[in-house]
Amino acid sequence: MAKVDIPFDTYYTYDEMTAHLQALAAAHPKLAKLTSLTKTLRGRDVWLMEITNPDTGPALEKPGYYIDAQIHAEEHATSATALYGIWYLLTNYGTDEEVTRLVDTQVIYVLPRINPDGAELSLVHPYHPWCGNGRFLPGEDRIEGLIPQDINGDGYIVNMRVPDPLGEWKKSERDPRLMVQREPGEEGGEYFRIYPEGLIRDYDGVHVRIEQQEDGNMNRNFPINWSPREYGAGAYPFSEPEAMAMGRLVLDHPNICGMCAYHTHGGIILRPSMMKYDADMSPRDLALYKDLGNVGTRLTGYPVISTYEDFTPDKTKARHGSLKDWVYEEMGIICFSTELWDLERTAGVDKKGFMDLGPRDSETQQKVFDWVLKNVGEKGFRDWEAFNHPQLGPVEVGGMVYIWSYRNPPGKLLQEICHNNTLFNLRHAAAAPQVKVDRLSVEALGADLFKITAVVANHGYLPTNLSDVAVENGVAKPVTIALDLDNASLVINPQRQELGNLAGRNERKFTYSNWGPQWSATTKKVEWLVRANGPGARVTAVAQSEKGGTHRVSETLA
Ligand SMILES: [Zn+2]
Repeated sequence: MAKVDIPFDTYYTYDEMTAHLQALAAAHPKLAKLTSLTKTLRGRDVWLMEITNPDTGPALEKPGYYIDAQIHAEEHATSATALYGIWYLLTNYGTDEEVTRLVDTQVIYVLPRINPDGAELSLVHPYHPWCGNGRFLPGEDRIEGLIPQDINGDGYIVNMRVPDPLGEWKKSERDPRLMVQREPGEEGGEYFRIYPEGLIRDYDGVHVRIEQQEDGNMNRNFPINWSPREYGAGAYPFSEPEAMAMGRLVLDHPNICGMCAYHTHGGIILRPSMMKYDADMSPRDLALYKDLGNVGTRLTGYPVISTYEDFTPDKTKARHGSLKDWVYEEMGIICFSTELWDLERTAGVDKKGFMDLGPRDSETQQKVFDWVLKNVGEKGFRDWEAFNHPQLGPVEVGGMVYIWSYRNPPGKLLQEICHNNTLFNLRHAAAAPQVKVDRLSVEALGADLFKITAVVANHGYLPTNLSDVAVENGVAKPVTIALDLDNASLVINPQRQELGNLAGRNERKFTYSNWGPQWSATTKKVEWLVRANGPGARVTAVAQSEKGGTHRVSETLA
């Protein structure tokens, strides 16, 4: 099999990424299917790579695992990680046991760049700090006030420091390139205001107005707890074509049982709930999220935390309309969103908590500044450059390049991040329920009658219902067993029977105790009485689980 070499120490434009995906699909025509999920508002294809071995059965008859990346435009490391996952699965199939087993028994759906329009704005010069899709272009999303743009033509949109006695900022004593906050009561120095680099539309000569962007946040566009008040939520749930297509993908593939949505805000694995305290979640669901998440922590080093308890600073403002919430709270699918990059911890800052949006002290800023200068260089920090601003007069343009510092790791750290997180994807995927006909026995009773016994078992870590939420919502479909007959007739018991849910290994966390959670069956037995109608009589037991796959075993009636 031809090996496709892709360096994972850099970020790819849309055309470059597309070429890599097409090369991978061409080199692995049996295992990989590259299709366009939808067209964006600016006419780009959102690529979907589906990976499975079709020789072992159709994709929809196998447990599905879903990976998505770059719903947020400027989170480029997410796309690199998803592309790496595709490359890793295809390249190591046939040599790596874990990869081969997964591709043979399951199907993996990867969306390596959900938001290519927004991503391109943020990835090519000038790097626009951008979150949304292509509905608005930079400048179109604000009516008046400051419009961020590259005014000094260096290919970067950073900050302007404007001398101003009202200023909240001053130059650091250690390094005049670093701006630190002026203290309360501090007077008599040289002070600055800091604004995003740009020009001001309809400037009144006094107040530099900055309108909140309209560019959008597609991870608030899903139909769960949706609110028009949430920044970037869209006009209505699924108003954005990319979010709509993601929703359709999930609904059209009911075999999906595990999901990972990639982001870059802080070196953590986020789990549900997004709306309530852990104490209000199903204890069994919480336990399996923690156990699976701990595998992720071992492989990536990232802690696994509750989105609501640890990542929502204002508990009265739970997040609205997010993908993870939608798929778990509505469908019971086990979904994590992994945030791939924490600049501050990497720079050695002793951070408390995970969602601290408060101001940073000068020591923290210095550590981050030193780290970025050393590890990212001028792509991460632009030295201040004098500029005669047409509206504000003499200013300086420079400072931290948000996209290439806080938002994404430097290329040299990328491959390890991609690799470790892909390993967690593989383990999470392999935790799926796996329903199999373990035994199909035929006992001749005389007079052309046969007793048929089928044993159906769930071999997976997860139960066939995935979660208690799926049961509570009435969306968990029962496992079924059917006996297909060739030249034979059924005498006793229905041809198709419902077996309910089959438990997974996650239920038996302890040896048996009367005090602990009680156990349910992982394995069930079904019997039929069948009459052979002549030579070639044959039975096929078909076990079917929406999440745990379809498995068939046949026997000839002697
Ligand atoms: Zn994000």
